Amino acid sequence: MADIRLEGVGHSYDGGQTWALKPMTWTWQSSRAYALLGPSGCGKTTLLNIISGLLTPTVGRIFFDDRDVTDVPTSGRNIAQVFQFPVLYEEMSVYDNLAFPLRNRKYPKKEIDERVRQVSRLLGLDHLLGRRSRRLDAGRQQIVSLGRGLVRSQVAAVLLDEPLTVVDPALKWTLRSKLKEIHRDTGHTLVYVTHDQTEALTFADEVVVLNDGAIVQAGEPAELFLSPAHEFVGHFIGSPGMNMLPAEIVGDVVRVGQADVGLVHADDADELPPGPVRIGVRPEFVEITGAGRSPGVPATVTGIDRMGAYDLVHARVGEHPLIARTEAGAPYQLDSVEFLHFPADRTFLFRDEVRCGSL
Ligand code: ATP
Repeated sequence: MADIRLEGVGHSYDGGQTWALKPMTWTWQSSRAYALLGPSGCGKTTLLNIISGLLTPTVGRIFFDDRDVTDVPTSGRNIAQVFQFPVLYEEMSVYDNLAFPLRNRKYPKKEIDERVRQVSRLLGLDHLLGRRSRRLDAGRQQIVSLGRGLVRSQVAAVLLDEPLTVVDPALKWTLRSKLKEIHRDTGHTLVYVTHDQTEALTFADEVVVLNDGAIVQAGEPAELFLSPAHEFVGHFIGSPGMNMLPAEIVGDVVRVGQADVGLVHADDADELPPGPVRIGVRPEFVEITGAGRSPGVPATVTGIDRMGAYDLVHARVGEHPLIARTEAGAPYQLDSVEFLHFPADRTFLFRDEVRCGSL
């Protein structure tokens, strides 16, 4: 296990005109489980392939601890990588597929058997060990492929590229918790690529959010949810994502339309100059209060989704849509005007998409 350090690493597929990955400096710390989260095309696979050596970065150097591996091929990096589309030996049994990476590296027979049985038990494959892989459905094949990536105990890192995409959604929950168990047991440095925030938040010690080839924020799941540093993180994490409304700083007060919603608190020591901002507040924290309570922002109810465990109340503030998550059985009427309250510390101010303060 090693710290994996990227120093000014970037990649362009078209001779430097556009960057699939903008030059970045970043360290993946040894033994930590990371989720690399971002929308399609943001550079996740490119970054993973640079770590594993399938791709040489256009600029920058990559280090495993103090060893510069930039020019070391994949075979010399001791990385286990699992691709979105399973690469299995179809005529081999599940057992032999799982044992393959260990046999290849001449692990002792007893250890091979122990590791294969341990991983297959955790991933629910133990009753399928004798089955040929081509006779498995696509979801099971993906799980075998995942198992192959996890079976070696001594690797510099395990890289998983969307490893559960075709697995049954109910089974995904179980597998993610098993994956955590395996990670606790082996202490691998693990990078798990996904565009699914639930997968990222439930699995990782640290979530790294990538957008447009750059890391926009990294932190523990709760930190990204409660304290997004960028509008993109607010939108992308949370379901539904953070509400954004145009607002105005007037003196030391933030105003939405005609309503004062609270006092300005700048994130850094400098005061925030007056002018337009956007305020971000998650549906979970919007409070719908009775008329007359101040401050309150008038909003017209446009719809209610009854989700079972909770309701999502859709509303319009002026021309802008907003969603509030309430207890099930929200008693609001369509087209009624309700008053919204945005709690201090849970409501953030953004300028040029970057967070600059809070209420
Ligand atoms: P997805 O979730 O869809 O797999 P991703 O986040 O993994 O996306 P990448 O596959 O790393 O994104 O792609 C990043 C950017 O680089 C995209 O704009 C993509 O079109 C471009 N790209 C990726 N591979 C190549 C290639 N071989 N040649 C040219 N452009 C490429």
